[in-house]
Amino acid sequence: MKKLNKYFAPIVAAFLAVACSGNHQLLIGSADCVDPSIDTYDGFVEYVSKLDGFVCDSAELLNPLLADALKDGNIPLAPASEIYARAELFHHAKALMDDIIVLDTHCDFPEQIYYNPDRGYSLGESRSRCQLSLQKMRQGHMSAQYLSVWMNAVGDQKDTDLLAKAPDVLWEFIRGTDEHLELFRDQCGKARTRQDVETLKSQGKIAFLSGLENAFWIGTDLSNVKRLADHGFTYITLCHWGDNQVCNSCDRTSDKNGGLTEFGVRVVEEMNRLGLVVDLSHASYGTWQQVLELSKAPVVFTHSGSAAVYDHQRNVDDATLKKLALNGGVIQVFIVGGYMSPDKERKASLQDLLLHIDHIVSVAGIDHVGIGLDFDGGGGGEGCNGCNDAINITMALIERGYSDEDITKIWGGNYLRVLDEVQRVAQTID
Ligand SMILES: [Zn+2]
Repeated sequence: MKKLNKYFAPIVAAFLAVACSGNHQLLIGSADCVDPSIDTYDGFVEYVSKLDGFVCDSAELLNPLLADALKDGNIPLAPASEIYARAELFHHAKALMDDIIVLDTHCDFPEQIYYNPDRGYSLGESRSRCQLSLQKMRQGHMSAQYLSVWMNAVGDQKDTDLLAKAPDVLWEFIRGTDEHLELFRDQCGKARTRQDVETLKSQGKIAFLSGLENAFWIGTDLSNVKRLADHGFTYITLCHWGDNQVCNSCDRTSDKNGGLTEFGVRVVEEMNRLGLVVDLSHASYGTWQQVLELSKAPVVFTHSGSAAVYDHQRNVDDATLKKLALNGGVIQVFIVGGYMSPDKERKASLQDLLLHIDHIVSVAGIDHVGIGLDFDGGGGGEGCNGCNDAINITMALIERGYSDEDITKIWGGNYLRVLDEVQRVAQTID
């Protein structure tokens, strides 16, 4: 066994720099982090084995004993220039995100509280299976998140009895979500306007906005749209899986070219009147076309992708994207396995998300794309698997050549422009 001078390890450790995965923070090791009891070569190798990498341009530059220990511990050598470039990129992304509104438009966290009360879902706790928490949002440098109210609508969503009961179920669900948010009001608050989001950010708090996913839950009484608006909701996704009393869906539909029902036309008009954003994610092709004609205000897709990148019914074709740009609207790109790429073997990844964003920018322009990851509702993928990974998206966008101004638009600037406009147009309608 090689004998190690007990003063050797602390001295070497002073030169350790470890590039951690995860948030890509650059940690500099110090003498303090070495167990002074390490006095054998094996002990040193064991210590070195815990590193993710060792910053050095060449093994020949190292003390031979350290070079051996790194080799025996299978620790890769990372060129210092790469590490510093990565640190600079991380610093750029962090500074930018702290300066702007970083908003995601679709997260199904409320459903986890509703359906899995015993699994410990809480905004106050960061668990690996839970993609949203206050801490994860802070780690990812996010400032605002839409909490989408989704419940599983079982049965025929045009059935009069089911529709009559739906609003009561909805309000019970909303009460549960509100109560949960109330527990953390020292760290977050509810927002319904750009001003609310900016005020909360200036107070160091996270902003939560409210959206309803699937208008089935409003039943057949238009007053429920007003009740949602009065409660601070700012979007309604017209449908989910399956056609409902408002419109045809892209999934399990009788006709993908079918659009709004008569009641659906009145719902869209009422949403325009009350300043609620119409969300076309999950809706049929026919519904997209009809709403883009009918709506007096810009519309959105809160969590969808590009059909040119991958032809899936949840993704939007180029012709519709061009109409969306003319409408002034925005499509927020998700990261959902099975929806992003024709390669079925592969899980979704950050790279897929970027391919969809790049394509949408090329077709509709930089003013009409954003981010709605669909966390805690099936979203997530390699490199982007929780709110704490939001900074990875920013770093990747910077690397791809997007400017700070572009990234500001993608991370909420575009969506907030739509929200402003929808709320402004409502003031002009009687
Ligand atoms: Zn959805």
